[in-house]
Amino acid sequence: MNSSEYLIVGGGVVGAAIGYGLARQGLKCTLLDAHDRDFRAARGNFGLVWVQSKGIDFPEYARWTRLSAKLWPQLAKELKEVTGIDVQYEKRGGVHYCLDDHALQQRQTLLQQLQAGSDGDFSYRMLDHNELRELEPEVGPTIPGGSWSPHDGHTNPLQLLRALHAGFINQSGTYLGDHRVEQIERDADGYLLTTAKDRFHCRNLILACGLDNARLGPMVGLQQSVFPQRGQILVTERLPRLLNHPSNYLRQTAEGSLQLGDTKEAVGLDDGQDVRAMAAVAERACRIIPRLSQSRIVRGWGALRVLTKDGYPLYEHKDNAWAFSCHSGVTLAAAHALSLSVQLKNQQLEPDLKAFTANRFQE
Ligand SMILES: Cc1cc2nc3c(=O)[nH]c(=O)nc-3n(C[C@H](O)[C@H](O)[C@H](O)COP(=O)(O)OP(=O)(O)OC[C@H]3O[C@@H](n4cnc5c(N)ncnc54)[C@H](O)[C@@H]3O)c2cc1C
Repeated sequence: MNSSEYLIVGGGVVGAAIGYGLARQGLKCTLLDAHDRDFRAARGNFGLVWVQSKGIDFPEYARWTRLSAKLWPQLAKELKEVTGIDVQYEKRGGVHYCLDDHALQQRQTLLQQLQAGSDGDFSYRMLDHNELRELEPEVGPTIPGGSWSPHDGHTNPLQLLRALHAGFINQSGTYLGDHRVEQIERDADGYLLTTAKDRFHCRNLILACGLDNARLGPMVGLQQSVFPQRGQILVTERLPRLLNHPSNYLRQTAEGSLQLGDTKEAVGLDDGQDVRAMAAVAERACRIIPRLSQSRIVRGWGALRVLTKDGYPLYEHKDNAWAFSCHSGVTLAAAHALSLSVQLKNQQLEPDLKAFTANRFQE
């Protein structure tokens, strides 16, 4: 029997960030991860560390997101020092492109509201076409404007995942891949987990296995009602610098490729691709940056988001078991690694995070 003080199920960006955060505090942790053929949002996402527009009707989430954006520079620096891996985090602010005047108007109303509820902690600028062009000289003539916020940034999500895993292992965490947890039982002093290969015991259990939280959560009395939503992303060949800022629809990576995103599709557990959706993504990107129409797409993929009913995080706790499901796991990686993990060590979540329980879904 393998035993551990903290056992984390799921090595995506949520489980790896929490695991890294616990291990850096000197706690004995084991992380059980499953297989490459799983649905793994952490390996198929867009890489934004995004604040503007987050949590308009959920102030606790807006604050949690802003805290994470503030902690991101520390996380990126620390991961570089501990692992030597550069996660290519950049924070020059982000642009949201509005495709017509109505969208521009709506954007202004939304961000005004967000700022009013932020106690002065959120700033942004609305941009007309000419102002947008000053920030992004390649923007197309039909884009009426957009918004810019200094809080936004982006990272290389694959390097992030690699660095979190390496950091976890470097700080004496035990990572076991190909260990899908099938069953969890409660015993007198903790939890007993069964995989096809082995059995594990722990005092503190953390479930962070994306869509599979819905299956494992109820085994320990935690409601984790999550469902998939597909997003498709395209990648261009490497290009000279065309964009200065990441945005909701496209971003240029450190290597020069442009990532074009993304779709929001209710297609169940199908993480494949669809030519019509990809064409729409490419067409929109070419409208925003017309020079893109001369470039080649070299890759594309579909991946499944881990969504809750209202799109906000679902953090549940009972006895010594915790479950964490969220969209925006890249954005929240710094909060998970540097703040949530400290709260978990103290066995006490801060008041703001109590708003993330399933109680909010009860009528
Ligand atoms: C198209 C797309 C674009 C996105 N863009 C962004 C973005 O720009 N910014 C942002 O912040 N977020 C973005 N996201 C969301 C982000 O990727 C997710 O929030 C995040 O990946 C969720 O992480 P996770 O660790 O919970 O789940 P996953 O990444 O799905 O990882 C789950 C892990 O658990 C393992 N696992 C599953 N079942 C078991 C089991 N029974 N036992 C053990 N291990 C198990 C899997 O193998 C996997 O490693 C995007 C997502 C998608 C799909």
